Amino acid sequence: MWAVTRPPTAAPAQRVCPRCSRIAHTDDRRCPFCGRGYTRRPLASLVLVLLVFAAGILGGMALMFAAVADRVEDELDTRVVTIERDIDRSVRDVGDDLARRLDQRLRERGLLAP
Ligand SMILES: [Zn+2]
Repeated sequence: MWAVTRPPTAAPAQRVCPRCSRIAHTDDRRCPFCGRGYTRRPLASLVLVLLVFAAGILGGMALMFAAVADRVEDELDTRVVTIERDIDRSVRDVGDDLARRLDQRLRERGLLAP
């Protein structure tokens, strides 16, 4: 009934090219300035959105893994230092104990002055 149509005498629609951003009064499917189509390809836009999304997720995961790796490395360094300190103390204690027993035996046999 109320079909929206343009009178045949009206000027062509004003269109803005998505590529070169120039305005043209044309009914053509392509921009008269750069030759590109007025309609964007939805698949290309979807692919672009997915690529940006994937890059964001992968970048975020990379940052997370880097932060976790730094924490694990710090914790390992702390534990290694603690274990080295414990081993040094144990070796020193064994050496002191051996020296004490050796002195005691030498004193028992009269080879060392009491
Ligand atoms: Zn154009």
